Amino acid sequence: MTKYIFVTGGVVSSIGKGITSASLGRILRNRGWVVAPMKLDPYINVDAGTMNPFQHGEVFVTDDGTETDLDLGHYERFIDVPCSSGSSITTGKVYRKVIEAERRGDYLGGTVQVIPHVTNEIKRSIVDLGRQQEADIVLAEIGGTVGDIESLPFLEAIRQMRKDFGKENTLFIHVTLVPQVGPWHEIKTKPTQHSVIKLREIGISPDVLVCRSEVPLGDEVKEKISLFCDVPPEAVVESLNAESIYEVPLMYERAGLGELVGNRLGLEDRAQNLAEWEGIVEKIKHPAGRCCIAVVGKYTQNGDSYKSIAEALIHAGGANDAKVDIRWIESQTLESTVDPATVLGDVDGVIVAPGFGDRGIEGKIRAMSYVRESGLPFLGICLGLQMAVIEFARNVCGLEGANTTEVASKAPYPVISVMPDQTKVESKGGTMRLGTYPCNLTAGTLAHGLYGSTRIEERHRHRFEVNNDFRELLISKGLVVSGVSPDYRLVEMIELPSHPFFIATQAHPEFKSRPNRPHPLFLGLVKAALKVGSRNKAHIAL
Ligand code: GLN
Repeated sequence: MTKYIFVTGGVVSSIGKGITSASLGRILRNRGWVVAPMKLDPYINVDAGTMNPFQHGEVFVTDDGTETDLDLGHYERFIDVPCSSGSSITTGKVYRKVIEAERRGDYLGGTVQVIPHVTNEIKRSIVDLGRQQEADIVLAEIGGTVGDIESLPFLEAIRQMRKDFGKENTLFIHVTLVPQVGPWHEIKTKPTQHSVIKLREIGISPDVLVCRSEVPLGDEVKEKISLFCDVPPEAVVESLNAESIYEVPLMYERAGLGELVGNRLGLEDRAQNLAEWEGIVEKIKHPAGRCCIAVVGKYTQNGDSYKSIAEALIHAGGANDAKVDIRWIESQTLESTVDPATVLGDVDGVIVAPGFGDRGIEGKIRAMSYVRESGLPFLGICLGLQMAVIEFARNVCGLEGANTTEVASKAPYPVISVMPDQTKVESKGGTMRLGTYPCNLTAGTLAHGLYGSTRIEERHRHRFEVNNDFRELLISKGLVVSGVSPDYRLVEMIELPSHPFFIATQAHPEFKSRPNRPHPLFLGLVKAALKVGSRNKAHIAL
């Protein structure tokens, strides 16, 4: 019998439900359970692909090419299971299915309603995911905050699932905020009480309260929450801010969450393997070295826009026994007056990040010139590869005005252009080259050395590619195409052997980095950056 855990959030948004769900998944995984995580997002978009990263943070891409909420990145990194289209449900997706069924005539004669048709579709998605992944436990996080109008059908569906599957097979975890207010920093439980009342109005009584707090709660506060919210005191789990998010599963384990959940769901008492995770956290928290990597991007004001890149750098830092400081650089600021040397002069490595549209493009190209000429270790990701090619075309091949047709449709030298199979694509949602594709690496290249293989697979999300009309010219001037699609049609990776560490990929390697399996490209970049760092320090010491 599959067990179902539902995670809801109360009081405020951005309370850390994603990390809580991912951490709980890790705790269960440590005990050998097969966990299928999923996110139920109340917004009407069919997927996150058309959303602005400024508003919504990174768009995460799964192996099967689903464009999802960034929380799926947390699930994959913490639980180390691949997510798929079934792991991400939105109001738009659910309604689309219901409306398609109505048009087919599946409900002939009936009036199609939120209850039961929409709620049945939500329940079916949850149960189906468990079946597809042969999961012991489906761990479903409901997006938004309890009290939002949009999330009501989802909450009603999970309420019904308790009736359908019984108390012993369903568990409701509510994540709330316990703030401190006033001059004496008094701990206040009222927002949590109100949020639980809101849940009860819908018919859900939470079994466990995960209470986010700046300070330890103390027994008195826990008992008060227990009394007012009708949960046993041991089910009031304090959740303090952690130095590293990867510490959270260990904190929850210490707070007894693993045992509590296991007992409540009648899971067999299994030994848990904590050693690997403890080792990872230890390395992240106590590094010997340090380096600074600049990430030149277009959406740097929202710290979540490049979430997977930031996490991949943490993983690679841990494995290199180093802390990686990230300097976020908004590429637009490099477009005019600011000399790239003033913001990149003292960093040890540079990532040019993914992105869409024309804003900030020239800034990225200016940053590229500096990186190529200064010898700073460089990793280009997706748009980053395209920027590296444009810069090389303009300044090494002498193709003045070389550009991507994404921003300059009439460029004299369109070195990056739309992929042939994309030219007729009109609708924007879910139509890019998405998901995992294979790539062949040339033996003896930097890419081959880093991956340790000539055949790799990476996830993609793009419409444009290196224009093959210019491939030979670029190669003749020293650019090495180290990775291509198996049919040789698409340039997947490039590098510059004349440079100490210069590599770019059309894919998104950041999506596949795990704390226990850092990605080779990020490992290589951080290693090269540490060399620059120690050289800089040696220079200062002299
Ligand atoms: N905008 C570029 C393209 O569509 C790059 C996409 C990206 O960086 N993910 O090809």
